[in-house]
Amino acid sequence: MLRITELRLPLGHAPEDLRTAILARAGIHTTQLQHFRIARRSHDARKRHAIQLVYTIDAEIDGATSLPATPDTTWRPPVTHAPPGTPRPIVIGTGPCGLFAALALSQMGLPPLILDRGKPVRERTKDTWALWRRGILTPESNVQFGEGGAGTFSDGKLYSQIKDRLHHGRKVLEDFVTAGAPEEILWLSKPHIGTFRLVQVVESLRARIEAMGGEYRWQSRVERLTLAPDRHVTGVTLSTGEHIPARHVVLAIGHSARDTFAALHAQGVSMDAKPLSIGVRIEHPQGLIDRARFGPAAGNPTLGAADYKLVHHASNGRSVYSFCMCPGGTVVAAASEPGRLVTNGMSQYSRAERNANAALVVSLTPADFPDASPLGGMEFQRHWEERAFAAGGRDYRAPAQTVGDFLAGRPSTSLGSVTPSYKPGVTPTSLADCLPDYAVAALREALPAFGKQIMGFDAAEAVMTGVETRTSSPLRIGRGAEFVSLNTPGLYPAGEGAGYAGGILSAAVDGIRVAEALACAAVGVEVPV
Ligand code: FAD
Repeated sequence: MLRITELRLPLGHAPEDLRTAILARAGIHTTQLQHFRIARRSHDARKRHAIQLVYTIDAEIDGATSLPATPDTTWRPPVTHAPPGTPRPIVIGTGPCGLFAALALSQMGLPPLILDRGKPVRERTKDTWALWRRGILTPESNVQFGEGGAGTFSDGKLYSQIKDRLHHGRKVLEDFVTAGAPEEILWLSKPHIGTFRLVQVVESLRARIEAMGGEYRWQSRVERLTLAPDRHVTGVTLSTGEHIPARHVVLAIGHSARDTFAALHAQGVSMDAKPLSIGVRIEHPQGLIDRARFGPAAGNPTLGAADYKLVHHASNGRSVYSFCMCPGGTVVAAASEPGRLVTNGMSQYSRAERNANAALVVSLTPADFPDASPLGGMEFQRHWEERAFAAGGRDYRAPAQTVGDFLAGRPSTSLGSVTPSYKPGVTPTSLADCLPDYAVAALREALPAFGKQIMGFDAAEAVMTGVETRTSSPLRIGRGAEFVSLNTPGLYPAGEGAGYAGGILSAAVDGIRVAEALACAAVGVEVPV
């Protein structure tokens, strides 16, 4: 196959125009073009009245051309089988990182034991809905914990900006498609699959891992590691007191496993506080975003619901940026600890809900945290989540405020035309009570600046809910070149919780990289770089 890039056609072009453009670019006769497929499609909406589709094409062509070959993205596992007697690894966590670590280990002949504190995804869904519908939080089974991890109830955005020289991201997308995700995720530049499909995908991946010998155990919270005198991992101890021996443990616990972070810190596992962000979720009518982004083409089904990405450098030195934008989605209650409140966003595949939502967050550094310990960021998050819980009325309703009231510095007593989508409901109040002063100042400066980029973004009736504290892990669990903990041999810190990923795709890719390193160590071959 040969690759053709940057093939631009107007939005709404006829299907045959693509073939014509390929022939023209390749400089070939139609009989030479045996077959072609779309490798990637994005859109360029910088000129709203002349939006273009931008294609990358892989083509089978007869005869000589100067086109480059399509890159080979096949996954080549560095280990293909493990000698009998190789100890079974443990994977802690079934989020995208743990899931793909477990899949890759199984494919390399090391089917692991997979432990998760939460429940299988269907049972977990019921618990999650109990918070959204009735304000009942189950601390071990919620948006953060359980099969599929934090991204299961999400927009299911499947793109990332990580460097991925070995094309692990391609493996992830192909495995998603094999597990039931729509094939378009292989070629859309910003693919997403929405929450319902993710549920099916994680179940299907589980079946595949089990068929290769992997074993899952639910409601199995790892309380601590067990360590030899030289600190090499010898196994894990569950909250029930049960000890499970292991020489190699993948730690893929996500950014919300605060009790586990504290236990690992107490055991001396090397970790440091890392920068974080805090802010709110903002909601606008999706139509407003579509019109601002696509002009007369708003609503075009090829473009779908529009997204945005905004950054403002505030005069107090803070950066304000949009994060995890969910077109046509809903704001969700994402708490995992009683008495603390957190917002996040999700959508269905159709992205057809009335509102667009995104986190608007302000950058923090460890100097902002109440103490200098590695757990300082976690305590910072807890403090502001408690403030939000109190401001919402102590029943998991979220504090909410219109942009107009927030900018004017007065509490909201009612909301306007934008109905907040957060369930179990909101309490109109002042979000300034749930955020540090510097974050309030930075947001007040950023909103009008964003309004210049997206007309109506700072409209008085746009609504904000809070607080958004879990944009990334509050700490990094150090690891060396071979992906092993800096001071605890046999421990493989991985994924978002350990500070090596931010999002579904990057967490899954990190899981594969860690699995490869672990498999190489277990059978004694070199780790691919
Ligand atoms: P997690 O997914 O957090 O998984 C950690 C797992 O470890 C959990 O299953 C948990 O139960 C388990 N666990 C924790 N502690 C223990 C323990 N002690 N013992 C046993 N098990 C334990 N990212 C995107 O790319 N696109 C999106 O559209 C998107 N939307 C999101 C929407 C929401 C509502 C949320 C909450 C997140 C969203 N994200 C999104 C972020 C994404 O979900 C995370 O980046 C990703 O899930 C991190 O993967 P992970 O495997 O590292 O950790």
